[in-house]
Amino acid sequence: MENRMNELVERLNQYAKEYYELDNPSVSDAEYDKLYRELVDLETANPEAVLPNSPTHRVGGKILSGFEKYQHQYPLYSLQDAFSREELEAFDTRVRKEFPHATYICELKIDGLSISLTYENGHLVVGATRGDGSVGENITENLKRVQDIPLTLSAPENITVRGECYMPRASFDRVNQARQEAGEAEFANPRNAAAGTLRQLDTGVVASRGLATFLYQVASPTVNDSQSHVLQHLDELGFVTNHEYHFAKSIDDVWEFIEKVAAMRDSLPYDIDGVVIKVNDLAMQDELGFTVKAPRWAVAYKFPAEEKQAQILSVDWTVGRTGVVTPTANLSPVQLAGTTVSRATLHNVDYIAEKDIRIGDTVIVYKAGDIIPAVLRVVEEKRTDQLVIETPQTCPSCGSQLLHYEDEVALRCINPICSAQIMSRLEHFASRDAMNIAGLGSSIVEKLYRAELVKDVADIYRLEKSDLLKVEGFQDKSAEKLHQAIQISKENSAERLLFGLGIRHVGSKASKILLEKFSNLENLAQTGAEEIASIDGLGQVIAKSLNSFFSSEGAQQLLTELKEAGVNLAYLGQVAQEGAVLSGMTVVLTGKLERLKRSEAKAKLESLGANVAGSVSKKTSLVVAGADAGSKLAKAQELGIEIRDEAWLESL
Ligand code: AMP
Ligand code: ZN
Repeated sequence: MENRMNELVERLNQYAKEYYELDNPSVSDAEYDKLYRELVDLETANPEAVLPNSPTHRVGGKILSGFEKYQHQYPLYSLQDAFSREELEAFDTRVRKEFPHATYICELKIDGLSISLTYENGHLVVGATRGDGSVGENITENLKRVQDIPLTLSAPENITVRGECYMPRASFDRVNQARQEAGEAEFANPRNAAAGTLRQLDTGVVASRGLATFLYQVASPTVNDSQSHVLQHLDELGFVTNHEYHFAKSIDDVWEFIEKVAAMRDSLPYDIDGVVIKVNDLAMQDELGFTVKAPRWAVAYKFPAEEKQAQILSVDWTVGRTGVVTPTANLSPVQLAGTTVSRATLHNVDYIAEKDIRIGDTVIVYKAGDIIPAVLRVVEEKRTDQLVIETPQTCPSCGSQLLHYEDEVALRCINPICSAQIMSRLEHFASRDAMNIAGLGSSIVEKLYRAELVKDVADIYRLEKSDLLKVEGFQDKSAEKLHQAIQISKENSAERLLFGLGIRHVGSKASKILLEKFSNLENLAQTGAEEIASIDGLGQVIAKSLNSFFSSEGAQQLLTELKEAGVNLAYLGQVAQEGAVLSGMTVVLTGKLERLKRSEAKAKLESLGANVAGSVSKKTSLVVAGADAGSKLAKAQELGIEIRDEAWLESL
């Protein structure tokens, strides 16, 4: 029986591959169905013998209750963007400074969603979304329904791979056709459709949508020495990789490829939004390292955004959480990059003046990536007798006099109790990258504020379910849900809280660095500006801003109130051991290491308390140099920084 099951699984998987990937089936649908039913019968009779790579895992609707958070073992990064040939040249110059002879591999930038797949012993154990790069969502059940993702690999490897999950144009058309017939709203574009599908709780729906993947990265330590070998290795393991890549020795080569891709873009069976250029050699990649945001060894060239004409009907002025008042144009609706656009930002007063934008003008609007649409310029030929956009003198929310500082483009309301500012601070506090309180968006915040239930962030934690029930629109269930979401947010690691406080210049990245370093908010509140300014990746501006925030009486009071309400003030991520040998030191790795992998060396340094940085500066405490170290070593010598070797690191 087990032999037969094995045989059936092998054959069915082969047929599925022929059907879905090669588009060349060797058996009829009826034959496939017959074998499939035989397998289902055998599995039903022998549930303990179901094979991990059985195609039955891919079908059948399970209704999931939700998705769990998933902590990525290897973070996912984003890419630096380039929108012009000049920006690519600047990238090339930076790379050539370290590696004059680097070769690039150019890959298509697939317009889907990043996924991460982890295999143990060759079996798929976790499939996850990118999330914020360090924590995503576990969507394993859904990814199992994506036909081209192997459930088992051709070799029993432990490996974490990355790639893009997308909806092929053919699937998109079919899905939308069906939705239209059923009277359901159609998806705006394949990317939205793929995103909506991966978040489906009914796995049966996922199976029916025809998603597909291209894999392009091994995130776990790898023996491959180049990106092209990585792709080859992924192919051999059974993944689908994109074969439209191209090697380039210069930016001329890169540009030629980009032009070729731009010309064939519309005829591809899937959407792309650019070309990713990567240094092919992985040792060079290691050496080039990362900035806070993205690898230094890659750049994403983005195709120019689609542009459309629309008419400006009116202008709204809105007050943000720092008091900045920004203009937004209401437009005659246009279709832009798949969605209907009826509002676009005008940035600020200076922008309006510089571009001489007026109400009634026909303007060019564009949308780059996920950024909200913006107005590029006025179409002069279409101008008749337009109305000048008046700069408001008073705050549209609280009516107080607005300031327009000489050295600032922004128009500001400096009233500390301006309602609009308070509300948008609350909204920021609850937002996804901050405390992530689902259901506490702008309209609910406004209702709670108007009902005088919340005035500052600590009030959020004083809300009872009974308070919410007093607010219009809440029912038992929705009140319970929001109350629950608020309670859950108390357990967040404290970098979210710090970011949520909305202190000027303190973004989510800086918040994380600060909490890793000081382990909780109370420690941080007592740290002097100088110590903060000396941390790699921060600096004077952030330090000063934090200092002035924490030295105000209100801030101390707020921390106490939050603490009393049970909000966690501690960092819950990984912290270096107390008193670790390298604690507080900033270390730079350079050159080729012989025995340790670069990732292992980095992990070891971090576990000993060091902060591993990508470039040498005055703040560097020491440099670990391997063979053939280049400019970083030279710079360290020049600055008189202590230099150690691999043997020293191993001895620790
Ligand atoms: P961005 O979201 O614009 O910062 O671009 C980074 C994203 O591009 C990554 O997170 C990937 O999801 C996506 N991407 C698509 N194709 C590729 C590729 N061939 N190599 C690397 N990233 C890619
Ligand atoms: Zn105001």
